[in-house]
Amino acid sequence: MSLEPKPHPRAPAPGGLTPARRQALDILTRANRPVGAYEMIDMMRDAKGKRPAPISVYRALGYLLDNGLAHRLASQNAFIVCGHAHGAEEPVVFLICEQCGEVKEATSPGLARELAALAGAAGFAPRSRVVEIAGRCERCAAG
Ligand SMILES: [Zn+2]
Ligand SMILES: [Zn+2]
Repeated sequence: MSLEPKPHPRAPAPGGLTPARRQALDILTRANRPVGAYEMIDMMRDAKGKRPAPISVYRALGYLLDNGLAHRLASQNAFIVCGHAHGAEEPVVFLICEQCGEVKEATSPGLARELAALAGAAGFAPRSRVVEIAGRCERCAAG
């Protein structure tokens, strides 16, 4: 299992990041925690306090998801920056602390093999491969 963040191998070409996409990615990177779409819209207010149109924020988030720069956490209805160098087809596991809110992203070659075998046996073509596990992080479990 790997928990160490690595530089992202699929960073898009500079032209691929429009200002809105860049800003959304910056917000997620700085937050380093799950951010909901409405919170994101709020955080993207300009100097005059004007919020961007929700559709443009959703489009920017969609781009980040499609390009593996961020993930969507269904259980939190929120988005989180991808802290890992992993392939697009590789399953990711999110360890979500219910006490302090910390979210860790992990990958596992063993889990990838098992999930591929499981889906294959069912004749199933997976689109997303995200596992969300709720519980307590190492720090909270110790406290
Ligand atoms: Zn990831
Ligand atoms: Zn915790």
